[in-house]
Parts: sequence; C-alpha cells; structure tokens
Amino acid sequence: MSDKRLVLASKNPGKLREFRDLLAGRAIEVVGLDPHAPEVAETGTTFEENALIKARAAVAATGLPALAEDSGIMVDALGGEPGVRSARWVPGSDEDRLRALLARMEGVPAHLRTARYVSVIAVVLPSGREELFRGEWEGRLTDAPRGTGGFGYDPIFELSDGRTAAELTLHEKNAVSHRAQALDRCLERLPALLEES
Ligand code: IMP
Repeated sequence: MSDKRLVLASKNPGKLREFRDLLAGRAIEVVGLDPHAPEVAETGTTFEENALIKARAAVAATGLPALAEDSGIMVDALGGEPGVRSARWVPGSDEDRLRALLARMEGVPAHLRTARYVSVIAVVLPSGREELFRGEWEGRLTDAPRGTGGFGYDPIFELSDGRTAAELTLHEKNAVSHRAQALDRCLERLPALLEES
C-alpha cells in the first residue's frame, strides 16, 4: 500500500461502493470519513460549490488531502431540476424521490424526457490547493422503474441502448457513468497533487 492517503468525503453507500470499485488497484490509500462526523450543510447552488464545501470540511476534520463529490440528475423538462437538490428535494427515501420525479413527468412525451447525471469532484489539499473535475452522462427518463442495480434514480434513467442504469452491472456503470468520467479526469491529476501535499 502506498503512503499516499486520501480521505473520501462521503457517507452515501451507493457512491462509496462505486468509488471503491473505481479506485481499486490504484496506489492510493483511501480512508473513509468517520461515520459519526457531523453532517455538512450543502448550501451551495452549484455542484462545484457543494463538492468544495464537503472536501474542505473533510480536510479540516482529518488534516488529510480530501476528495469529495457532488452529483445529481438534471431533467430538461424541469429546467434542470432537481439538480443540486437531487438527494433532498422530496423528503423520504430514494424510492420516494424516484416516484415523485415520475409523477412530475407524467404526460411528458418520450422525446422531451431527456436528462443527464452530473458529477463534480473536488480535491482539496491541506495546503489549501483546490481542483475540480466534472463528468456528465446523458439519458432519458422512463415511465416506470426497471432494474435492481445502482442507486438513486438509476431504475428510471435510460441509456441509448435501451437499458436503465439499474440494469447495468457495477462494472458496466463504472465504465461510462458521470462519476467515472469525473474520476478519470481527477485520476490524471491526483498523483501529482498528492505528491505536492
Ligand atoms: P449528493 O450526495 O448530495 O451529491 O447527492 C447526489 C444525489 O444525486 C443522490 O442521492 C441521487 O439522488 C442522485 N445521483 C447522483 N448520482 C447518481 C447515480 O449514479 N445514480 C442515481 N442517482 C444518482
């Protein structure tokens, strides 16, 4: 194991599972956030602001370089909503939010059901240096959920091959997803950044 340690500032089990798979085999020791660490208020109006808020808080709590991600789904017919509020625009579970999104989209025809997942990763070093990386994944909302993989809105996010993101294996999703694209860009820079810290 390398002495390059990085704290992954997320408690979302779906995201953590994907990050662990994406980072497997890298010469970076990934440390999880203490599950009892206080929640950080995501008060930003952009994915970039919220990713930075979470990464800065993790550096402050641990003294280690931190990687944080903020993501969400942007639906064209809803003017980009729920966007940065994807995890909390309706109280309850992921399933409740997925159902609420389907209800909001009732009657919207297939060609107007376009959406994209957006992921922004912030890396913040104890020195104060900050870098951002973004990935986007295009899709379309279905009329009903399909598939059991992934998390969040995956059962209603349909790809160009007709499968939903919840019908992909973890490996397939991690080859193309918004998070994978942002992390690919991040990993090109990360070794040099960690060398600096
Ligand atoms: P965050 O933890 O504040 O960044 O919220 C991200 C939210 O966006 C998640 O809770 C999901 O609702 C949604 N989301 C982001 N990425 C995905 C994904 O890959 N699949 C399904 N939902 C996602």
